[in-house]
Amino acid sequence: MHVKKGDIVEVIAGAREKDYKNAKDGKVTGKVLKVLPAQNRVVVEGVNLRKKHMKPTTTIQQGGIIEIEGSIHASNVLIYCPKCGKGVRTGSAMVGDKKVRVCKKCGETLDK
Ligand SMILES: [Zn+2]
Repeated sequence: MHVKKGDIVEVIAGAREKDYKNAKDGKVTGKVLKVLPAQNRVVVEGVNLRKKHMKPTTTIQQGGIIEIEGSIHASNVLIYCPKCGKGVRTGSAMVGDKKVRVCKKCGETLDK
C-alpha cells in the first residue's frame, strides 16, 4: 500500500459527484481513516459517503439513516503534496536511518 492511515490524499478517481461539490479547487482531498490491505482499498474521510439504515438499538435510540464513508480503491488516491497543491506520485528517500516518502515532483518530504 502506498498510503497509510492518517495520510492526506487526493482522490483522483472513484469519487462521487457530491464529493466534487464539496471539493476545493475541484480537488477531492481527505484524510485516510482506514486502510484495507487485503482488498487494496482505503476509506477517506468525507468521501464516497453512503447512506446506511440503522435499526434502533439501546445505544442509538432513534435509529434512522446515517452516512458512512464507503471504501475506494487504493489506486484511485494519491498522497497530497502541500507544496504542489495536489496529489502526487511518491518516491522514497532516507532521512538519517529512516525511510520517508517524498514528492517525486518537488522533493518535499511527505512523512512527518
Ligand atoms: Zn510536491
